[in-house]
Amino acid sequence: MGEVKKEDILDILAGYDKSEITIATLGSHTSLHILQGAKEEGFRTAIVCEKGREVPYDIVNEDVQQQLRDMNAIVVPHGSFVAYAGLDNVEDKFNVPMFGNRDVLRWEAERDKERALLVEGDVRIPFKYNDPSEIDRPVMVKFPGARGGRGYFVASSPEEFDAKIDAMKARGWLDDSDVEAAHIEEYVSGCNYCIHYFYSALDDKVELMGMDTRYESSIDGFVRMPAKDQLDIDLSPSYVVTGNHPAVIRESLLPQVFDIADKLTESAKKLVAPGLNGPFCMQTLVNDNLEVICFEISARTDGGTNTFMDGSPYSYLTYGKPMSMGRRIALEIKNGIERDELEKIIT
Ligand code: ADP
Repeated sequence: MGEVKKEDILDILAGYDKSEITIATLGSHTSLHILQGAKEEGFRTAIVCEKGREVPYDIVNEDVQQQLRDMNAIVVPHGSFVAYAGLDNVEDKFNVPMFGNRDVLRWEAERDKERALLVEGDVRIPFKYNDPSEIDRPVMVKFPGARGGRGYFVASSPEEFDAKIDAMKARGWLDDSDVEAAHIEEYVSGCNYCIHYFYSALDDKVELMGMDTRYESSIDGFVRMPAKDQLDIDLSPSYVVTGNHPAVIRESLLPQVFDIADKLTESAKKLVAPGLNGPFCMQTLVNDNLEVICFEISARTDGGTNTFMDGSPYSYLTYGKPMSMGRRIALEIKNGIERDELEKIIT
C-alpha cells in the first residue's frame, strides 16, 4: 500500500467518533451523488474545493488532511480525485481513511496490470497483437496517456498501420517511444455498455447497480454525417467522453453480465488482496454473436454512475427505492459501523 500503512489508517479510524462520521470527497466527477447518498443515509458530508470556486483544491495538502481527520472523515475516491491528487500521493502521502481498497487504484490505471486482472479472471477481452506485422483484421491502436482516445486509430493491415503511424509522426503527434508502446487490439464491432457494479466486501456479494453508454466526441457526431461526406473529409475521430446515456442490456445477456463481474472479483482477490471493495465498472462492447467483451475497467466509482443518481432499473429491482452508487457506498459504511467491521472496507 505505498508508504501509507493500513495499520496507521486503522489507528486513525480507532480514534474516530463513529457516531459522527463524515463522508468526504473532492468536488468533481461523481461527488453529487456521493454526497446526496451520504445525506440520505444520515451522514454528515464534506467536499474539498477551493473557496468560492468550483475547481479542485489540493486534497493532499497537510492542512486539508488534518481538517478531514478532525471531522472523522472517510474519503470516497473517484476518477478526478485520483487524477488531481496523483496516484503516488494517494499511496504515499494521503493519511486519511479512504473507502475501498487503495491498492487496486494502480491496477486499473496501468494497462498491463488492468489486463492481468482480466486475463487471470478469464474474462473475454479484445485479442491483443504483439507486433503490427501480425495485423490480420481490423484493429484499434491505442497509445499511452492518450486520454479520451485522442490519436487512437483503426487499421486493417500492417501497411495501413505503417501509413497511419507515418502520417501521425509527420504531424508531430507521435515519437518513436509512443510507437514502441502502441497497444494494438482487435477492433470489436459492437455496442458499448459500461456496467456499474458494487462489490460488498462485508457480504462478499456483487450487485449490479446500473449501466450507461458513452456519448463521445468527435466520433458520435462524425457518424451522423452521410458516409460519402465522411470519406471526403480527412478527419481522424477521437473518443472524448462528453456525456452518458442510461442504458439497459438485452435481458438474455444478464448471465454474462454477472459472470464477468464474478470473474473479475475473484481475480482481484488473488492479484490485489483483499480484492475489489465497493464500486467498479466494466466497459464492454457487445458484438452480434452476443458476446460481452470487456476492454477497460474502473476499480472505483465511474463517471457513468451519474446516469442513475435516483436509481437505475437494476438498482430498483434490488432495492425497490432510489439507490445511487453514492448512496450504496454510504449504506456500506453505515453497515460497517453497525457491525463494527469498518476495517474491512477502509484503507
Ligand atoms: P481512454 O480510456 O483512453 O478514453 P478507451 O480504452 O476507453 O480509451 O477507448 C475509448 C473508446 O474507444 C471507447 O469508449 C470505445 O468507444 C472505443 N474502443 C476502445 N477499445 C475498442 C476496441 N477494442 N474496439 C472497438 N472500439 C474500442
